[in-house]
Formats: sequence, structure tokens, C-alpha cells
Amino acid sequence: MKCKKCGKKAIAHLKAYGIALCEECYSDFYIRLVKRSIKRYRIMKKNERVLAAVSGGKDSSAMAAVLKELGYDFEMLYIDLGIGEYSEESERTVKNLSEFLDVDLNILRLKEYGFTISELRRKWRRKTCSGCGIAKRYIMNRFARENGFDVVATGHTVEDIVSFYLKNVAGGTKIWVEKLLPRNEPFDEKIVTRAKPMFEISEKENMLFVLIRNIPFTMADCPYAPKPEWKEIIYEIERRKPGFSKNFVRGLLAKKHEFQEIRHCSVCGEISNSDICAFCRLRSSVGDFHL
Ligand code: SF4
Ligand code: ZN
Repeated sequence: MKCKKCGKKAIAHLKAYGIALCEECYSDFYIRLVKRSIKRYRIMKKNERVLAAVSGGKDSSAMAAVLKELGYDFEMLYIDLGIGEYSEESERTVKNLSEFLDVDLNILRLKEYGFTISELRRKWRRKTCSGCGIAKRYIMNRFARENGFDVVATGHTVEDIVSFYLKNVAGGTKIWVEKLLPRNEPFDEKIVTRAKPMFEISEKENMLFVLIRNIPFTMADCPYAPKPEWKEIIYEIERRKPGFSKNFVRGLLAKKHEFQEIRHCSVCGEISNSDICAFCRLRSSVGDFHL
């Protein structure tokens, strides 16, 4: 297969976009993709000071590298969660990444707050990840605010967003809208804006980019990570319907207002997503009830 742009040997066939590209053209294409989503969804502004949360995994390493490439003013933050060898390996990786990109790295240790995730594991068992999420969000937000950052950027991918949504819908749980949006504005002065510049990008696309550019990352997995069942389902759908995940998140964004603006009907007072609820509009259109 040949690269569609330059005719050299293609290394990747991107089914979601229907093109094959060589190493060099792939990197350019990938960087443009991220740039385009940041601009289109106003995820980050060039004058903002960004704190990029890195874990050593391919997704956050790719994010840091692309932010550097796009000229953002940013520093990195690594949180040592105290998960044995996994945390040690991750820390070595982010230190290499910091050197490779020539970007400052801040390291904070959960232990300094009195516990580690391995200790939390003994008490919380199956809920370890929710506890870990709470700890990470708390530390990221507090550090960013106290050090004058405008935005915290995380490496969530399109699969993270889709699997989060599907898992919640399937489990009948409330959807936390903020987890689906590429940018969350603070609703309190103690909260720092959150951004997901990679929200339209897939894990496979990140993997190709870090491999081509030799960007430091680790394949080590957290020993407490749950089975990636939902992600496997998404890969399978993606295999059969290339472009599914990207279309899915774009569709979610288009529905964002439905999720966000829960209001009350000005006629009957019931929950509504507009001034007058659908039922009152229905009644007025067919019955003898007039608005
Ligand atoms: Fe934390 Fe590991 Fe769960 Fe990730 S997989 S949230 S690092 S405990
Ligand atoms: Zn090419």
C-alpha cells in the first residue's frame, strides 16, 4: 500500500478516514487532527497556562508531545499513586518524557496526603478506581489552582468517552455530563478548567504517533485496572463500522444542550429542556388546551 499523500510506503491504513499514510505524513495528519479538534471545540486557548497530567501511558505522552508541537505554554504533572512497581516504572517514563520534550515536570506523591492507592485497595476493593479518580482530580485541581495554571489537560481518548457513556447507560446510572465534554468551565472559583484535547483521537492513533516519533511511554498496566470489557466492545464495533467512536462523540456533543440544560416548564412546572415542556406543547397542539 502506498501513502496517499506522497506515494512512499504506507505504514497505516486509517479506516475511519479511508486513507493510507507513510510515517511522516501520518505524523502531520495526526497533529492536524488534534489541532483541528482543539480549535473547533475551543478546548484550549493559546494564551492559557496549561498543566498536562501525564501517567507514562501512550495517550498522555502523545498529548504532551502534540501540545509541545503546537506551541502551547505548559508544564506536566505526574502523581505518584504508590502502586508498587507500576508507579516506579511510570515515574521513570515521565522523567524521560520531560527530558525528551524539554518540558518541566512536577511530581506529587499521594503518600504525602497520608495514604497510597495500594493501601486504599485493601479497604475499597472493587471501588479502588473511583477512589483513585477522586484522589487524582483533587490533587490536579488543587495543584493547578495554587500554581496559577488556567487549565488542566488530561489524555482521555475517544474510547474513554464512549466506554464511559455506554457503561453508564447500560448500568442505568446518571450520566455525568462533564466527563463527556472536551472542556469544562469551572462553576466555582476553586475549580480550574478541565480540558481533553484528545477526546476525538483513538488509542491506536496515539500509539502510532508515539512509536513513529520515539516518544517515551510505558506499556505497564495498573494491576488494579478493571477488565477492559467495554473497550473491547468498542474496538469490535469500530472494526465493523470504522469511524463509529468519532461519530459517536460528535453526536454526544451535538446533544450536549439536552443533557446540560435541565429546566422547568413555564406552564406546568415539570422537568423540561426548553421553556415549555414537550407534553404541554403536545397538549396545546391536539387538545383544547391553549398556550
Ligand atoms: Fe487508579 Fe489504577 Fe484504577 Fe487507573 S486503573 S484509576 S491508576 S487504580
Ligand atoms: Zn507520505
